[in-house]
Amino acid sequence: MHIEDRIQQIRQRIATAAEQCGRSLDEVSLIAVTKTHPAEMIDQALATGIRLIGENKIQEAEQKLPLLTQPYDEFHFIGHLQSNKIKKLMPLKPALIHSIDSFSTAQKLDAWCSEHNHHQDILLQVNTSAEESKWGVEPAALPELCAQVATLPHLHIQGLMTIGIFSDDETAVRTCFKLLRSLRDELQKTAPANVSMHHLSMGMTNDFEIAIQEGATLVRIGSAIFGSRSYT
Ligand SMILES: *Cc1c(COP(=O)(O)O)cnc(C)c1O
Repeated sequence: MHIEDRIQQIRQRIATAAEQCGRSLDEVSLIAVTKTHPAEMIDQALATGIRLIGENKIQEAEQKLPLLTQPYDEFHFIGHLQSNKIKKLMPLKPALIHSIDSFSTAQKLDAWCSEHNHHQDILLQVNTSAEESKWGVEPAALPELCAQVATLPHLHIQGLMTIGIFSDDETAVRTCFKLLRSLRDELQKTAPANVSMHHLSMGMTNDFEIAIQEGATLVRIGSAIFGSRSYT
């Protein structure tokens, strides 16, 4: 299937999922996850109306973004952020960094922003599946991390991100997304005033419809658009 048809199909599935749970379509944004796919394919997706693109490896993004000929609205960084890579990531102008999960990395990012007179939107990544995912703050430690990061003047928390458990068990997947949403609802009551909990970044190729039902505002979809990845 051509990339254009795949995107059309995904948009239709997003619309159906939103409609079925009484949500408005413009509450859910599609991030096309372009990792492992070449710039020409990303250009095809952009020509078809994709506005937001996501990568999880800084080095790969550094190589590919300059090769794009089509414009995009936002680049989202969705992978784990090592603090020694901050200076390589930031020139790529990420609109949103989805993966802040430690105060020390947040401090280093804030320091970079301070030096460069920049303000950065971020999400806090939560490990909602316990053993299945390496990254993300433990749910119990989230309120403290949120309070700490909220003190950093150049970072602006916009919500939470998670990767659902990799499982065929729909209930197990849904439990991850329900947890992220309830953590968001709790933080909305207790977090400092400069913290926004607008975004829930959750849902990938295999589980984005469940994520939308549970309140996702950003879905991160790769293989359903670009085909499966080969890591050679
Ligand atoms: C690769 C990746 C995705 C997209 O995964 P697909 O299953 O291909 O849709 C989403 N989020 C993160 C953090 C990723 O690394």
